[in-house]
Amino acid sequence: MISNIPTMTKVHNFSAGPGVLPAEVLKEASQAVINFNNLDLSLLEISHRGKDFIDVMEEARSLVKELLGLPSGYSVLFLGGGASLQFGMVPSNLLRANGHAAYVNTGVWASKAIKESKIIGNTKVIASSEDKNFNYIPKGFSIPNDADYLHITSNNTIYGTQYQEFPDCSIPLVCDMSSDIFSRKVDGSKFALIYAGAQKNMGPAGTTMVAVREDLLGKTERKMLTMLDYSEHIKADSMYNTPPVYPIYVSMLTMKWLKNNGGLSWIEKLNNEKAALLYNEIDRNSMFEGTTEIEDRSKMNVTFVLKNAALEAEFAKWAKEANLSGLPGHRSVGGFRASLYNALPIESVQALVDVMRAFEAKLG
Ligand SMILES: *Cc1c(COP(=O)(O)O)cnc(C)c1O
Repeated sequence: MISNIPTMTKVHNFSAGPGVLPAEVLKEASQAVINFNNLDLSLLEISHRGKDFIDVMEEARSLVKELLGLPSGYSVLFLGGGASLQFGMVPSNLLRANGHAAYVNTGVWASKAIKESKIIGNTKVIASSEDKNFNYIPKGFSIPNDADYLHITSNNTIYGTQYQEFPDCSIPLVCDMSSDIFSRKVDGSKFALIYAGAQKNMGPAGTTMVAVREDLLGKTERKMLTMLDYSEHIKADSMYNTPPVYPIYVSMLTMKWLKNNGGLSWIEKLNNEKAALLYNEIDRNSMFEGTTEIEDRSKMNVTFVLKNAALEAEFAKWAKEANLSGLPGHRSVGGFRASLYNALPIESVQALVDVMRAFEAKLG
Protein backbone atom coordinates (compact mmCIF):
# COMPACT_ATOMS: atom_id res chain seq x y z
CA MET A 1 0.00 0.00 0.00
CA ILE A 2 1.21 3.48 -0.84
CA SER A 3 1.64 6.11 1.83
CA ASN A 4 -1.17 8.19 3.16
CA ILE A 5 -1.99 11.60 1.69
CA PRO A 6 -2.84 13.82 4.65
CA THR A 7 -6.08 15.80 4.39
CA MET A 8 -7.29 18.77 6.37
CA THR A 9 -10.10 17.17 8.38
CA LYS A 10 -11.41 13.89 9.68
CA VAL A 11 -14.18 14.01 7.10
CA HIS A 12 -13.68 11.67 4.16
CA ASN A 13 -14.39 13.87 1.16
CA PHE A 14 -15.89 12.00 -1.81
CA SER A 15 -17.26 15.19 -3.42
CA ALA A 16 -17.60 15.05 -7.22
CA GLY A 17 -16.59 18.67 -7.61
CA PRO A 18 -15.27 20.96 -6.42
CA GLY A 19 -13.25 18.09 -5.02
CA VAL A 20 -10.74 17.29 -2.30
CA LEU A 21 -7.34 19.05 -2.34
CA PRO A 22 -4.11 18.06 -0.55
CA ALA A 23 -3.80 19.46 2.98
CA GLU A 24 -0.35 20.90 2.35
CA VAL A 25 -1.68 22.76 -0.70
CA LEU A 26 -4.55 24.23 1.32
CA LYS A 27 -2.11 25.30 4.03
CA GLU A 28 0.26 27.04 1.65
CA ALA A 29 -2.65 28.57 -0.26
CA SER A 30 -4.15 29.99 2.92
CA GLN A 31 -0.82 31.57 3.88
CA ALA A 32 -0.60 33.28 0.48
CA VAL A 33 -3.91 35.00 1.20
CA ILE A 34 -2.27 36.74 4.16
CA ASN A 35 1.32 37.19 3.03
CA PHE A 36 2.46 36.07 -0.39
CA ASN A 37 6.20 35.56 -1.13
CA ASN A 38 7.07 37.61 1.99
CA LEU A 39 5.79 40.70 0.23
CA ASP A 40 3.64 41.60 3.26
CA LEU A 41 0.85 41.65 0.70
CA SER A 42 -1.85 39.15 -0.10
CA LEU A 43 -1.77 37.32 -3.42
CA LEU A 44 -5.28 38.74 -3.76
CA GLU A 45 -4.12 42.36 -3.73
CA ILE A 46 -1.14 42.47 -6.08
CA SER A 47 -0.99 43.18 -9.79
CA HIS A 48 -1.21 40.21 -12.11
CA ARG A 49 1.34 42.05 -14.27
CA GLY A 50 4.01 42.05 -11.55
CA LYS A 51 6.86 39.56 -11.48
CA ASP A 52 5.50 37.63 -8.50
CA PHE A 53 2.29 36.63 -10.25
CA ILE A 54 3.85 36.24 -13.70
CA ASP A 55 6.14 33.65 -12.11
CA VAL A 56 3.08 31.77 -10.81
CA MET A 57 1.41 31.81 -14.22
CA GLU A 58 4.54 30.66 -16.02
CA GLU A 59 5.17 27.88 -13.52
CA ALA A 60 1.55 26.70 -13.85
CA ARG A 61 1.78 26.69 -17.65
CA SER A 62 5.08 24.84 -17.67
CA LEU A 63 3.93 22.24 -15.10
CA VAL A 64 1.00 21.35 -17.38
CA LYS A 65 3.39 20.81 -20.28
CA GLU A 66 5.69 18.72 -18.13
CA LEU A 67 2.96 16.54 -16.59
CA LEU A 68 1.21 15.92 -19.91
CA GLY A 69 4.48 15.48 -21.79
CA LEU A 70 3.52 18.06 -24.39
CA PRO A 71 6.09 18.59 -27.14
CA SER A 72 6.85 22.06 -28.50
CA GLY A 73 4.10 23.64 -30.58
CA TYR A 74 1.51 23.57 -27.78
CA SER A 75 0.32 26.57 -25.79
CA VAL A 76 -1.17 26.29 -22.33
CA LEU A 77 -3.80 28.79 -21.15
CA PHE A 78 -5.62 29.36 -17.88
CA LEU A 79 -8.98 30.93 -18.69
CA GLY A 80 -12.22 31.80 -16.93
CA GLY A 81 -15.71 30.60 -17.83
CA GLY A 82 -15.36 26.97 -16.74
CA ALA A 83 -15.15 23.90 -18.93
CA SER A 84 -18.62 24.93 -20.11
CA LEU A 85 -17.20 27.92 -21.97
CA GLN A 86 -14.79 25.56 -23.75
CA PHE A 87 -17.81 23.69 -25.14
CA GLY A 88 -18.30 26.82 -27.30
CA MET A 89 -14.72 28.02 -27.65
CA VAL A 90 -13.51 24.73 -29.15
CA PRO A 91 -15.84 24.86 -32.19
CA SER A 92 -15.44 28.63 -32.46
CA ASN A 93 -11.70 28.13 -32.95
CA LEU A 94 -11.48 24.77 -34.74
CA LEU A 95 -14.68 24.20 -36.71
CA ARG A 96 -14.24 25.66 -40.20
CA ALA A 97 -17.15 27.60 -41.73
CA ASN A 98 -17.55 24.89 -44.41
CA GLY A 99 -16.29 21.99 -42.33
CA HIS A 100 -17.81 19.69 -39.76
CA ALA A 101 -16.95 18.36 -36.33
CA ALA A 102 -17.39 14.81 -34.95
CA TYR A 103 -18.50 14.16 -31.36
CA VAL A 104 -18.94 11.10 -29.17
CA ASN A 105 -21.83 11.42 -26.75
CA THR A 106 -21.03 9.75 -23.44
CA GLY A 107 -23.21 11.75 -21.08
CA VAL A 108 -24.40 15.08 -19.76
CA TRP A 109 -21.14 16.96 -20.35
CA ALA A 110 -20.61 15.57 -23.85
CA SER A 111 -24.22 16.46 -24.68
CA LYS A 112 -23.64 20.02 -23.57
CA ALA A 113 -20.50 20.22 -25.70
CA ILE A 114 -22.50 18.94 -28.70
CA LYS A 115 -25.23 21.50 -28.09
CA GLU A 116 -22.75 24.39 -28.22
CA SER A 117 -20.95 23.04 -31.28
CA LYS A 118 -24.27 22.83 -33.14
CA ILE A 119 -24.75 26.54 -32.53
CA ILE A 120 -21.39 27.24 -34.17
CA GLY A 121 -21.47 24.88 -37.18
CA ASN A 122 -22.01 21.46 -38.74
CA THR A 123 -21.75 18.92 -35.91
CA LYS A 124 -22.13 15.15 -36.23
CA VAL A 125 -22.59 12.72 -33.35
CA ILE A 126 -20.70 9.66 -34.59
CA ALA A 127 -21.24 7.43 -31.54
CA SER A 128 -23.34 7.52 -28.39
CA SER A 129 -24.08 5.43 -25.31
CA GLU A 130 -27.39 7.15 -24.66
CA ASP A 131 -29.27 3.90 -25.46
CA LYS A 132 -28.15 2.47 -22.10
CA ASN A 133 -28.25 5.61 -19.97
CA PHE A 134 -24.56 6.22 -20.75
CA ASN A 135 -23.35 3.20 -18.76
CA TYR A 136 -20.59 2.33 -21.25
CA ILE A 137 -18.01 3.88 -23.60
CA PRO A 138 -18.79 3.35 -27.32
CA LYS A 139 -16.01 1.50 -29.14
CA GLY A 140 -15.14 0.51 -32.68
CA PHE A 141 -16.92 3.45 -34.27
CA SER A 142 -15.50 4.82 -37.49
CA ILE A 143 -14.11 8.33 -37.43
CA PRO A 144 -14.74 10.48 -40.51
CA ASN A 145 -11.32 11.46 -41.83
CA ASP A 146 -12.64 14.73 -43.27
CA ALA A 147 -13.94 16.11 -39.96
CA ASP A 148 -12.12 19.11 -38.51
CA TYR A 149 -11.75 17.29 -35.18
CA LEU A 150 -13.12 14.52 -32.98
CA HIS A 151 -14.34 15.57 -29.52
CA ILE A 152 -14.45 13.09 -26.64
CA THR A 153 -14.95 13.30 -22.86
CA SER A 154 -12.28 11.15 -21.20
CA ASN A 155 -14.15 10.61 -17.93
CA ASN A 156 -17.87 10.88 -17.40
CA THR A 157 -18.16 12.36 -13.95
CA ILE A 158 -21.89 11.72 -13.61
CA TYR A 159 -22.23 8.19 -15.06
CA GLY A 160 -18.91 6.81 -13.82
CA THR A 161 -17.43 5.68 -17.13
CA GLN A 162 -13.94 6.40 -18.47
CA TYR A 163 -12.00 5.72 -21.64
CA GLN A 164 -9.35 3.14 -20.75
CA GLU A 165 -7.91 3.57 -24.24
CA PHE A 166 -8.28 6.58 -26.47
CA PRO A 167 -9.50 6.14 -30.05
CA ASP A 168 -6.84 5.98 -32.73
CA CYS A 169 -7.51 9.06 -34.71
CA SER A 170 -6.00 10.61 -37.83
CA ILE A 171 -7.88 13.88 -37.36
CA PRO A 172 -7.22 16.30 -34.46
CA LEU A 173 -8.41 14.77 -31.19
CA VAL A 174 -10.02 17.16 -28.69
CA CYS A 175 -10.62 15.95 -25.14
CA ASP A 176 -12.57 17.28 -22.18
CA MET A 177 -10.44 15.93 -19.30
CA SER A 178 -12.15 17.94 -16.58
CA SER A 179 -12.61 15.06 -14.17
CA ASP A 180 -9.54 12.89 -14.77
CA ILE A 181 -6.77 15.27 -15.78
CA PHE A 182 -3.46 14.28 -14.13
CA SER A 183 -4.99 11.07 -12.73
CA ARG A 184 -2.92 8.76 -14.95
CA LYS A 185 -0.13 8.82 -17.48
CA VAL A 186 -1.29 10.09 -20.87
CA ASP A 187 0.59 10.81 -24.06
CA GLY A 188 -0.36 14.47 -24.44
CA SER A 189 0.98 14.59 -27.98
CA LYS A 190 -1.95 12.38 -29.09
CA PHE A 191 -4.29 15.30 -28.50
CA ALA A 192 -4.76 18.46 -30.52
CA LEU A 193 -6.51 20.14 -27.63
CA ILE A 194 -7.09 19.20 -24.00
CA TYR A 195 -9.25 21.23 -21.66
CA ALA A 196 -10.16 20.78 -18.02
CA GLY A 197 -12.06 22.80 -15.45
CA ALA A 198 -9.70 22.95 -12.48
CA GLN A 199 -12.18 22.10 -9.74
CA LYS A 200 -12.36 18.33 -10.09
CA ASN A 201 -8.77 17.11 -10.00
CA MET A 202 -6.43 20.07 -10.48
CA GLY A 203 -7.38 22.89 -8.11
CA PRO A 204 -10.28 25.07 -7.03
CA ALA A 205 -13.17 26.34 -9.15
CA GLY A 206 -12.59 29.47 -11.20
CA THR A 207 -10.13 28.57 -13.93
CA THR A 208 -9.99 26.16 -16.86
CA MET A 209 -6.80 24.81 -18.36
CA VAL A 210 -6.55 24.66 -22.14
CA ALA A 211 -3.59 23.04 -23.95
CA VAL A 212 -3.80 23.56 -27.68
CA ARG A 213 -1.64 22.82 -30.71
CA GLU A 214 -0.95 26.23 -32.18
CA ASP A 215 -0.80 25.14 -35.85
CA LEU A 216 -4.54 24.31 -35.77
CA LEU A 217 -5.61 27.88 -35.05
CA GLY A 218 -6.64 30.67 -37.40
CA LYS A 219 -8.27 28.47 -40.05
CA THR A 220 -12.00 28.84 -39.47
CA GLU A 221 -12.68 32.01 -41.51
CA ARG A 222 -15.11 33.01 -38.79
CA LYS A 223 -15.24 36.24 -36.84
CA MET A 224 -14.84 35.72 -33.15
CA LEU A 225 -15.12 37.80 -30.03
CA THR A 226 -11.60 38.56 -28.85
CA MET A 227 -12.16 36.82 -25.52
CA LEU A 228 -13.16 33.62 -27.33
CA ASP A 229 -10.09 33.56 -29.56
CA TYR A 230 -7.32 31.22 -28.34
CA SER A 231 -4.80 33.07 -30.51
CA GLU A 232 -5.42 36.31 -28.63
CA HIS A 233 -4.91 34.58 -25.29
CA ILE A 234 -1.73 32.90 -26.55
CA LYS A 235 -0.34 36.20 -27.82
CA ALA A 236 -0.94 37.71 -24.38
CA ASP A 237 0.68 34.79 -22.49
CA SER A 238 -2.70 33.89 -20.98
CA MET A 239 -3.11 37.42 -19.61
CA TYR A 240 -5.27 39.11 -22.21
CA ASN A 241 -7.42 40.25 -19.30
CA THR A 242 -7.02 39.83 -15.55
CA PRO A 243 -6.71 36.07 -15.10
CA PRO A 244 -8.33 34.21 -12.18
CA VAL A 245 -5.18 34.62 -10.08
CA TYR A 246 -6.09 32.61 -7.01
CA PRO A 247 -7.44 29.46 -8.72
CA ILE A 248 -4.36 29.50 -10.97
CA TYR A 249 -2.07 29.79 -7.94
CA VAL A 250 -3.74 26.90 -6.10
CA SER A 251 -3.72 24.78 -9.29
CA MET A 252 0.00 25.48 -9.62
CA LEU A 253 0.58 24.35 -6.01
CA THR A 254 -1.42 21.17 -6.65
CA MET A 255 0.58 20.36 -9.78
CA LYS A 256 3.80 21.00 -7.85
CA TRP A 257 2.57 18.63 -5.12
CA LEU A 258 1.92 16.02 -7.78
CA LYS A 259 5.31 16.44 -9.39
CA ASN A 260 7.24 16.43 -6.10
CA ASN A 261 5.54 13.20 -4.98
CA GLY A 262 6.44 11.32 -8.13
CA GLY A 263 4.20 12.67 -10.88
CA LEU A 264 1.64 10.81 -12.91
CA SER A 265 3.13 7.34 -12.53
CA TRP A 266 2.98 7.72 -8.74
CA ILE A 267 -0.62 8.96 -8.74
CA GLU A 268 -1.76 6.43 -11.33
CA LYS A 269 -0.57 3.57 -9.13
CA LEU A 270 -2.31 5.04 -6.10
CA ASN A 271 -5.52 5.75 -8.05
CA ASN A 272 -5.52 2.16 -9.36
CA GLU A 273 -5.24 0.84 -5.80
CA LYS A 274 -8.04 3.06 -4.54
CA ALA A 275 -10.39 2.11 -7.38
CA ALA A 276 -9.60 -1.62 -7.04
CA LEU A 277 -10.28 -1.52 -3.30
CA LEU A 278 -13.75 -0.03 -3.81
CA TYR A 279 -14.81 -1.96 -6.94
CA ASN A 280 -13.71 -5.24 -5.34
CA GLU A 281 -15.98 -4.52 -2.41
CA ILE A 282 -18.91 -3.51 -4.66
CA ASP A 283 -18.53 -6.82 -6.51
CA ARG A 284 -18.04 -8.90 -3.35
CA ASN A 285 -20.76 -7.32 -1.22
CA SER A 286 -24.17 -8.96 -1.65
CA MET A 287 -26.02 -5.68 -1.08
CA PHE A 288 -24.39 -3.44 -3.70
CA GLU A 289 -23.85 -3.37 -7.43
CA GLY A 290 -22.04 -1.11 -9.88
CA THR A 291 -23.99 0.83 -12.51
CA THR A 292 -21.62 0.69 -15.49
CA GLU A 293 -20.02 -1.86 -17.81
CA ILE A 294 -17.07 -3.32 -15.90
CA GLU A 295 -14.48 -2.64 -18.62
CA ASP A 296 -15.45 1.05 -18.77
CA ARG A 297 -15.47 1.72 -15.04
CA SER A 298 -14.10 5.11 -14.01
CA LYS A 299 -11.25 5.21 -11.52
CA MET A 300 -12.26 8.74 -10.56
CA ASN A 301 -16.03 8.54 -10.03
CA VAL A 302 -17.31 5.18 -8.78
CA THR A 303 -21.09 4.85 -9.17
CA PHE A 304 -23.03 2.14 -7.33
CA VAL A 305 -26.50 1.35 -6.03
CA LEU A 306 -28.08 -0.86 -3.40
CA LYS A 307 -29.73 -3.92 -4.90
CA ASN A 308 -32.63 -3.17 -2.57
CA ALA A 309 -33.29 0.50 -3.33
CA ALA A 310 -35.48 0.78 -0.22
CA LEU A 311 -32.29 0.65 1.88
CA GLU A 312 -30.68 3.65 0.19
CA ALA A 313 -31.69 6.18 2.83
CA GLU A 314 -30.43 3.87 5.58
CA PHE A 315 -27.03 3.47 3.93
CA ALA A 316 -26.84 7.25 3.42
CA LYS A 317 -27.39 7.60 7.16
CA TRP A 318 -24.62 5.11 7.98
CA ALA A 319 -22.26 6.94 5.63
CA LYS A 320 -23.01 10.26 7.25
CA GLU A 321 -22.42 8.86 10.73
CA ALA A 322 -19.01 7.57 9.58
CA ASN A 323 -18.04 11.04 8.32
CA LEU A 324 -18.22 10.00 4.68
CA SER A 325 -19.18 13.16 2.80
CA GLY A 326 -20.35 13.77 -0.77
CA LEU A 327 -21.58 10.24 -1.57
CA PRO A 328 -25.12 10.73 -2.94
CA GLY A 329 -25.18 10.09 -6.70
CA HIS A 330 -26.05 12.66 -9.34
CA ARG A 331 -29.80 13.17 -9.69
CA SER A 332 -29.76 11.65 -13.20
CA VAL A 333 -28.30 8.32 -11.98
CA GLY A 334 -29.37 8.07 -8.33
CA GLY A 335 -27.68 5.73 -5.89
CA PHE A 336 -24.19 6.66 -4.77
CA ARG A 337 -21.05 8.07 -6.29
CA ALA A 338 -17.66 8.02 -4.62
CA SER A 339 -15.25 10.41 -6.29
CA LEU A 340 -11.68 9.21 -5.75
CA TYR A 341 -9.74 12.23 -6.97
CA ASN A 342 -5.96 12.46 -6.64
CA ALA A 343 -5.92 14.03 -3.18
CA LEU A 344 -8.28 11.49 -1.60
CA PRO A 345 -6.23 9.19 0.65
CA ILE A 346 -6.68 5.42 0.34
CA GLU A 347 -7.65 5.42 4.04
CA SER A 348 -10.85 7.24 3.04
CA VAL A 349 -11.69 4.50 0.55
CA GLN A 350 -11.00 1.92 3.27
CA ALA A 351 -13.38 3.80 5.59
CA LEU A 352 -16.13 3.54 2.95
CA VAL A 353 -15.43 -0.16 2.40
CA ASP A 354 -15.60 -0.75 6.17
CA VAL A 355 -19.05 0.85 6.32
CA MET A 356 -20.27 -1.25 3.38
CA ARG A 357 -19.06 -4.40 5.15
CA ALA A 358 -20.67 -3.45 8.44
CA PHE A 359 -23.89 -2.63 6.60
CA GLU A 360 -23.94 -6.07 5.01
CA ALA A 361 -23.18 -7.79 8.31
CA LYS A 362 -26.12 -6.03 9.96
CA LEU A 363 -28.74 -5.92 7.20
CA GLY A 364 -27.59 -8.38 4.52
C1 LIG B 1 -17.75 19.35 -14.23
C2 LIG B 1 -17.52 19.08 -15.67
C3 LIG B 1 -17.73 20.06 -16.65
C4 LIG B 1 -18.27 21.44 -16.35
O1 LIG B 1 -17.31 22.23 -15.77
P1 LIG B 1 -17.59 23.76 -15.40
O2 LIG B 1 -16.23 24.24 -15.05
O3 LIG B 1 -18.56 23.76 -14.26
O4 LIG B 1 -18.15 24.44 -16.60
C5 LIG B 1 -17.43 19.73 -17.96
N1 LIG B 1 -16.97 18.51 -18.30
C6 LIG B 1 -16.78 17.55 -17.38
C7 LIG B 1 -16.26 16.20 -17.81
C8 LIG B 1 -17.05 17.80 -16.03
O5 LIG B 1 -16.85 16.84 -15.12
